[in-house]
Amino acid sequence: MNWNVPFFQPDITEDDIQAAIKPLHDSWMTMGPVTQQFEEAFSGKIKTPYSHAVCNGTAALHIALVACDIKPGDEVLVPSLTFVACANVILAQGATPIFIDCTSKEDWTISPDDIEQKISPNTKAMMVVHYAGFPCNMETITTIAKKHDLKVIEDCAHAVVTKDHDRFLGNWGDVGCFSFFSNKNMTTGEGGMVVTQNQEIANRIKYLRSHGMTVLSLDKHKGRAATYDVVEPGFNYRIDEIRSSIGLSQLNRLDDNLAKRKHIYDLYIKILNKIDEVSIPFLETCAESVGYHIFPILINVEGARQSIIDALKTNGIQTSIHYPPIHLFSGYQAHAYTANCPLTEHISANEITLPFYPSMTDEQVIMVCDGIKEALHNLPTTVSV
Ligand SMILES: *Cc1c(COP(=O)(O)O)cnc(C)c1O
Repeated sequence: MNWNVPFFQPDITEDDIQAAIKPLHDSWMTMGPVTQQFEEAFSGKIKTPYSHAVCNGTAALHIALVACDIKPGDEVLVPSLTFVACANVILAQGATPIFIDCTSKEDWTISPDDIEQKISPNTKAMMVVHYAGFPCNMETITTIAKKHDLKVIEDCAHAVVTKDHDRFLGNWGDVGCFSFFSNKNMTTGEGGMVVTQNQEIANRIKYLRSHGMTVLSLDKHKGRAATYDVVEPGFNYRIDEIRSSIGLSQLNRLDDNLAKRKHIYDLYIKILNKIDEVSIPFLETCAESVGYHIFPILINVEGARQSIIDALKTNGIQTSIHYPPIHLFSGYQAHAYTANCPLTEHISANEITLPFYPSMTDEQVIMVCDGIKEALHNLPTTVSV
């Protein structure tokens, strides 16, 4: 379809294209010097001691769980209002996801109160998600974690270079996981990063992403080693030099793009705040620095969501939903993963994610807002106001 306003457009420049080509002129294709540069630049950007690049954000979350010693039978607390990868990797470890509700109708991040309610003797960790780039309540969450001896994994897929108080997200928990998938704030096509402040975890991550081998192919290539040991069975979650090179280039432009995203965010808020039938989450809890990843709204007219999505589509405006609750997916129900998450279900049934990307023009923002106003005006009579 040819959209007037697509949901998303990746920001790819000539610099990125040149960066992608550069490693092809060298003789080393995968996880070499460029990857190391990318990791060092990322560490510098979010002031973290150890960064390890991986092939995607899901792989990052998976080895984070392994490095936190999550084993079959363990319970891991996770929001239901997140991307399904979070729960999938918990199951992949043979552990059980315990779904936690949102904090409130304004703050959609994981509820510290619900976390405390659902901690059991089997709980070993929690995976928290900085939804849309808004920080979870990390002071409270890390206090609860300390009290119950739980590991904290931060899913920072929406929150690259974002602070809670003075500390960058990813540095609050035991491990921070980032995604550089095509629709994220910085992209390498597919890619991810694992950060930690714990040297022992960092070492395990380093090996886990490459089969658990203590010697890299690059070292063998350089004649530094002939054989290797496997200290802990791992995976092939490596990134290649081409992606790392794109990542370095994207990282250079991230601050500019965040400023553009903030401008669009503020314009959306200015217009949509005047519409009674629309509420915008996180207005009250807005932190000093925000990831500005997606623009979610809540429709206050029960049952009206689909009509609005359809009307916007007719006007060439593409929208999305973040997210269908994980605990309601058929593949999860079949395993009887029940969850008491009423707020999540309400938000998920009434949420629309609006188009949002750095190259979006003011005119396009206005077109989306006008489309919403028109759709609300023309709601079918079967929808009760
Ligand atoms: C994108 C995303 C992931 C998965 O990252 P991939 O790089 O696509 O594997 C995980 N969690 C959240 C919240 C995401 O948005």
